[in-house]
Amino acid sequence: MPGRRDADAAAIDRLPGVIFQLHRSHDGRLHFPYLAGGGVRLIGIAPERLAEDARPALDRLVEEDYPRLMAALERSMRWQTPLSTRFRLPLKGQGVRWVALRAQPSPFPDGMRWHGMMMDISEQVSEEARLRRLSDTDDLTGVANRRRLMARLEEAVSLSNRHATPLSLMILDIDHFKGINDTHGHLQGDEVLRQVAHLCRETLREEDLVARMGGEEFALLLPLTPGHRALTLAERLCGVIAAHDFEVENGITVSIGVAEHRIGEGHRQLIERADRQLYAAKGDGRNQAMADA
Ligand code: GH3
Ligand code: MG
Ligand code: MG
Repeated sequence: MPGRRDADAAAIDRLPGVIFQLHRSHDGRLHFPYLAGGGVRLIGIAPERLAEDARPALDRLVEEDYPRLMAALERSMRWQTPLSTRFRLPLKGQGVRWVALRAQPSPFPDGMRWHGMMMDISEQVSEEARLRRLSDTDDLTGVANRRRLMARLEEAVSLSNRHATPLSLMILDIDHFKGINDTHGHLQGDEVLRQVAHLCRETLREEDLVARMGGEEFALLLPLTPGHRALTLAERLCGVIAAHDFEVENGITVSIGVAEHRIGEGHRQLIERADRQLYAAKGDGRNQAMADA
């Protein structure tokens, strides 16, 4: 039935992706015995070439995705489980795109053969990134939210526990903030929060994390920073904020508690110690930083 086969081929050519067979010989060589679908021309390499050797396509992968794809192939082969992975590939006239790959392995006399498909999922990937950013960000100030802070803090604490690298935490609270709201209104209060967040960001390094813990309280996580250095930074930050023109009566000051992580300590204890210093700074007159000795 040649008519039927032509129709099938025409339909396959219109598929928005690629269907393939990928073969791996016992010596580890990869090639695509079958490659079809509308996406093939976007790869920009003749299918006849890839039928001999998959390397010209693999060489195009974004560098760090290559070992990931190879590891996924290894796993799928060893456990005979479906292959499911994603990688970045420059496509003809479209720049670098994210491609999802799904394939089913089946043993062949001279190796392993996967039957599968690939699809461009760049839109989904950027939507995922957008949602992740949203769920990690404080709406009002644009800095990290509490959720992101807790996740990063746990990571940083376990890193510091493992490698004994210094790590410091600051907790910053705006002084008499209730009075700002009362005098200037809640909207002006919001603007002060935004500007304080901005000044924190500007004063710290790129790798430090600024997060809004809630209300008018911020946490600043400083990897690879010993306590004495964090205290100097906290004092500088107090000065920067006190000198900034927030367009409110009598200006704005903040109090900051600083604690350096102690090996073996959990993230909650670290927060507690920074908090205690914050309350000490408040009790001692505000507009200052104090550190756990
Ligand atoms: P202290 O110096 O002891 O920290 O005094 P304070 O007035 O800053 O502390 P308190 O905790 O009594 O008041 C915090 C105020 O922060 C109360 C609340 O109305 C205000 N606040 C909390 N979240 C927001 C917000 O998102 N926007 C605004 N504008 N105000 C907020
Ligand atoms: Mg306050
Ligand atoms: Mg407070």
